[in-house]
Amino acid sequence: MVTFLVISCLIKLMSFTRTVLGTRGFSMVVRPSVYAQFVAGETEGEIADSMQKMSSLGLHPMLAVPIEEDLGESTGEQRYEDNLAAMLDCVLMSYVNGWSKNPMMQLKITALVSPELCVKLTSLLKTEQYDLNVLVRAMEGEEVVFPGLTESENTHLLFSLQRLNKIGEASVDKVRVLVDAEYTYMNPALSLITMAMMKKFNQQSAWIWNTYQCYLKESKNILLDAIQTSIDQSFCIGVKLVRGAYMDKERKLAQKEGRTDPIHESWELTNDSYNGCLEIMLNLISEKPERYMIIVATHNEESVRRAVTRMDELGLHRDGNSVCFGQLLGMCDHVSLTLAQHGFSVYKSVPYGSVDDTLPYLVRRAQENRTVLQGIRKERDLLRQELRRRLKEKITGAR
Ligand SMILES: Cc1cc2nc3c(=O)[nH]c(=O)nc-3n(C[C@H](O)[C@H](O)[C@H](O)COP(=O)(O)OP(=O)(O)OC[C@H]3O[C@@H](n4cnc5c(N)ncnc54)[C@H](O)[C@@H]3O)c2cc1C
Repeated sequence: MVTFLVISCLIKLMSFTRTVLGTRGFSMVVRPSVYAQFVAGETEGEIADSMQKMSSLGLHPMLAVPIEEDLGESTGEQRYEDNLAAMLDCVLMSYVNGWSKNPMMQLKITALVSPELCVKLTSLLKTEQYDLNVLVRAMEGEEVVFPGLTESENTHLLFSLQRLNKIGEASVDKVRVLVDAEYTYMNPALSLITMAMMKKFNQQSAWIWNTYQCYLKESKNILLDAIQTSIDQSFCIGVKLVRGAYMDKERKLAQKEGRTDPIHESWELTNDSYNGCLEIMLNLISEKPERYMIIVATHNEESVRRAVTRMDELGLHRDGNSVCFGQLLGMCDHVSLTLAQHGFSVYKSVPYGSVDDTLPYLVRRAQENRTVLQGIRKERDLLRQELRRRLKEKITGAR
């Protein structure tokens, strides 16, 4: 609780200081420890050292540019073009340095498409069907007119799809692009766009992945629907399986709008949902490892143990392409390192960027959950224990 409060206060202080100094001044003068804990740095030069260290420990860095927008924060076409350039740099950086033999990166669609349009598309999806083939044609530059959108919304969607097409073209056969899941009021639109990317780029292997949030009551159905679409439309599917990072805001919003809470009632139900989705994916992978891939993206030791046990039972390769594990930079290194030491493929999600761009990410890291912060405490206790052991060894000479 204390750690949570301290991080929240630090972030509030950061926001205040940013207002006083302005974005640039703030980035250069203030880099609080919470930034150092969860973000690798701002430039390639700054992050290269930690990437090398990570590689030497047997961990794969998975770069993420945590630029994102929520409702009311839209910044205009030029800013989305600038963000595209940042994403393309990220694709390049992910493979040219040889930090990982099977590079992956994360992508937030709301860095390239306005959240307002995503919300509108999400509500249209309740009544309209969008053909993935038509979206693919729009990605390739065809002047498609999408039903239900105004002229300016349609133009923005066409530009956005072309931006995503450029990312797909730059990364296919080189870097696996894992699209993040965000809020339920826009996830259906994000998934539609991601599925269109999968349809185009995942013919031979899963180069584009989607994220499935198991804290949602609907998570199992959403995953099963996606699998069915991939079968019907003949493409490979990559799944990032998470519990979900937006619980507090989702709950508050549902309560405010008088809707049913989209999140499972308890952590235990979220765990059951995570285990169920994991089981579905591991079984599919054991049958067709060339069509299905998963990253078990969690800090939860029980989930990790379950995945490891099931992989052994199903005879899945520890260092094969189809199953890997993921943790966030600054969280649960003991889990990542233990997995890597036992021959599993482990990715550490490495956000980089200015303090300003990474603020929403940092706020979530603080709010996300108290249980992960307990993980940090556990790590600290393990380090203390090891330090004490080594000191004792030095003093007494005993092993
Ligand atoms: C590589 C990677 C990528 C990620 N990408 C995304 C992403 O794209 N989108 C996203 O949303 N998150 C993403 N996450 C964040 C992830 O959602 C959180 O790190 C995760 O929720 C923390 O949970 P955990 O699985 O580590 O396990 P735990 O620490 O065991 O579980 C905590 C989680 O359980 C859920 N929970 C807690 N209490 C309750 C309750 N009372 N009722 C119901 N559920 C509860 C919440 O989701 C909470 O975050 C990613 C994480 C990793 C490691």
